[in-house]
Amino acid sequence: MIRENYQKVLDSIEAARARRTRVPQEEPVTLIAVTKNHDVAAMREAIDAGAHEVGENRIQEAKGKFEQLDRQVTWHLIGHLQTNKARQAVKYFDLIHSVDSLHLAEALEKEAEKQGKVQDILLQVNLAREESKSGLEQEELMEVFRQVDSFGHLRIRGLMCMAPNYEEVELCRPLFREMYGLYRQVQESSWQRAKVDYLSMGMSHDYEIAVEEGANIVRVGTAIFGPRQY
Ligand SMILES: *Cc1c(COP(=O)(O)O)cnc(C)c1O
Repeated sequence: MIRENYQKVLDSIEAARARRTRVPQEEPVTLIAVTKNHDVAAMREAIDAGAHEVGENRIQEAKGKFEQLDRQVTWHLIGHLQTNKARQAVKYFDLIHSVDSLHLAEALEKEAEKQGKVQDILLQVNLAREESKSGLEQEELMEVFRQVDSFGHLRIRGLMCMAPNYEEVELCRPLFREMYGLYRQVQESSWQRAKVDYLSMGMSHDYEIAVEEGANIVRVGTAIFGPRQY
């Protein structure tokens, strides 16, 4: 099933891309297979179906998978990160989507310097101001962006957000549209080191709308792997 599901999601992404009206249709979309709570066997199946980008949200779980997985993939950290896990995050992940405070960025900078790495990151924005979700407030985004941009071992690649889990999925659209506006704004600003080319938004229930509104990275778990068993 995983192979068929993965292909179906890819097809839906292409269809959504063709429906874009406000953003360039030709801008490609990267699909991240979110493998949290799925085992290495399921991961292999997805990878063999073409998934070369995988997303995990917990360091502890991802660590075991790094050690077991006998496939070459790009690793995305999409879940909230605590500063005391910064060392492992920098060690394992190619792109950290969930940088949600200056404090965390400082911890990552320190670790990246120690490990001799330039760490690619996204700044997470809590656009809907949900208490339950982390992320920068829109009002603080530019200032945090400016400060992190000066760090020598981090490179900001763009923005990430999670939409609320609305019953009526169309309610996500204005938020995604606003995120795209913010993304364009940071893209057009001049920075020292940032290379703004990623807008990570959209999950299983809302990725088609996210793509229509300009996402170029979507993070999809359930629609590929089925429901997670906790
Ligand atoms: C779990 C998770 C996803 C994927 O969610 P699905 O609904 O299973 O597609 C995407 N982004 C983040 C940040 C997540 O934690």
